[in-house]
Amino acid sequence: PEPPLTKHIIMLPFMAQGHLIPFLELAHHILNHNPTFTITIVNTPLNIHYLRSATANHRSPPTQLHLKPLPFNSSDHHLPPNSENTDGLPLTQIIKLFHASAALELPFRKFIHDVVVSEKRNNVCIVSDIFMGWANDVAKSFNIFNYSFSTGGAYGTAAYCSIWLNLPHRRLTGGTHDEFWVPGFPESSRFTITQLHQFLRAADGKDEWSRFFQVQISLSLKSNGWLCNTVEEIEPLGLEVLRNYIKLPVWCIGPLIPFKMLKKNLGSDTGVIGPRSGKQPGIRPEQCIEWLDSHATGSVIYISFGSQNTIGESQMMELAKGLEESKRPFIWVIRPPIGFDLQGDFRPEWLPNGFKDRVGKQGLVVHNWAPQLEILCHRATGAFLSHCGWNSVMESLSQGVPIIGWPMAAEQGYNAKMLVEEMGVCEVLTRGVHSRITKEEVSRVINVVLDKSEGGKGEDMRKKASKLGDLIRASVEDNKGSSYRAMDEFLASAISGF
Ligand code: UDP
Repeated sequence: PEPPLTKHIIMLPFMAQGHLIPFLELAHHILNHNPTFTITIVNTPLNIHYLRSATANHRSPPTQLHLKPLPFNSSDHHLPPNSENTDGLPLTQIIKLFHASAALELPFRKFIHDVVVSEKRNNVCIVSDIFMGWANDVAKSFNIFNYSFSTGGAYGTAAYCSIWLNLPHRRLTGGTHDEFWVPGFPESSRFTITQLHQFLRAADGKDEWSRFFQVQISLSLKSNGWLCNTVEEIEPLGLEVLRNYIKLPVWCIGPLIPFKMLKKNLGSDTGVIGPRSGKQPGIRPEQCIEWLDSHATGSVIYISFGSQNTIGESQMMELAKGLEESKRPFIWVIRPPIGFDLQGDFRPEWLPNGFKDRVGKQGLVVHNWAPQLEILCHRATGAFLSHCGWNSVMESLSQGVPIIGWPMAAEQGYNAKMLVEEMGVCEVLTRGVHSRITKEEVSRVINVVLDKSEGGKGEDMRKKASKLGDLIRASVEDNKGSSYRAMDEFLASAISGF
């Protein structure tokens, strides 16, 4: 008799590091949970190359995980050659990449057709990024299930979806000029226009950003359920709003972080896990860990703005001066400031004269890409100055590290809002790339958050972050944890559609 066909999940991430990383981790988590599945991640050739390098160093890459490149030529979409990922693209070009992603529909459809023909319809389902909503149409035409995966958290995703689908923003009567209401949220959780990214502030439903997000999010609402990289216990308000708003099953299967980093006790050194994104770090992870080993527990501030953001030139200067003034040890991931080629060389004049020499042992300046998870998992790291991208947030909270917020784009402003208002683990330093910051403010905020005095604000944030870390790590416990059980339920749903 023929061996039974394995159940095949085909994954379609959006073309950004902050999406590829959690999708790849989701594949690992599923196979860890149930090794009888087969998973294929499809994407453009460059992103498949990234994923291949990220899996190559894995000690035992699962044989059930396949990577499939789909043809894509960025030059066809008025983008520079080989622009297949948001990293390295300025904001004006990123919107072109968003629209260009729809060109994957045809080759994706052909791939699904081939798989369905060779493996029988009832053995295949799709997990697609909420930015690739058209995958739902593909699934419907083959009569297979499609699940949407939002790589954001529940609160941020709910706010993001609701804001895009309810343009223009409705100002609150009786509120300040700046305040508006986000349908689905209680009236008491007011949002402000300044929390929005510049393209959302100007969005009216007709601009190129709205045209992309409104269509893709609406299509994603037609799927068989949503997966969310969060934990049931940490975002009660966000999940309530999200579930009411999208009216689909939502499974919280986070944190999408290697189990090795979750099973360790808080504060212990976890060592190196290897590349997660296929991008070359600007420093050897071992070197980073060695540097961290020489510092006291909870003393170091880690600064990074994710995979695609950078800050303004004058902001960079003030941040450098503020770090120096704070006298706290730091690891800073730097890239050329906004308006310059992100892939280009870093010019010394972007930092204060003699900065690197002066900070010497105090700071580790890393170019472009750092082994972030290893840094956050180290006992010496005491705070994270972050753009509040959701992966960064989950990585930080899972280790009990409080956050200094500097939200930039996407749903980062709402993530920061929730971290402050709902969780109490964040102090916002500033927003965006055009704001004016001063070295005094930088140094003040860093000192508040790293301060260890009994009864102080830093202590309070650390305690709250530590409690969230406990909840997050408990969620993956076999059989008992909420994320473990949610994964069970999601896979049961997927199997029922086969
Ligand atoms: N990342 C990293 N090293 C860096 C910058 C980012 O490893 O120097 C990883 C980070 O750990 C996270 C992802 O890239 O997993 C960034 O995702 P996030 O959602 O935080 O931000 P985005 O890049 O999507 O804005």
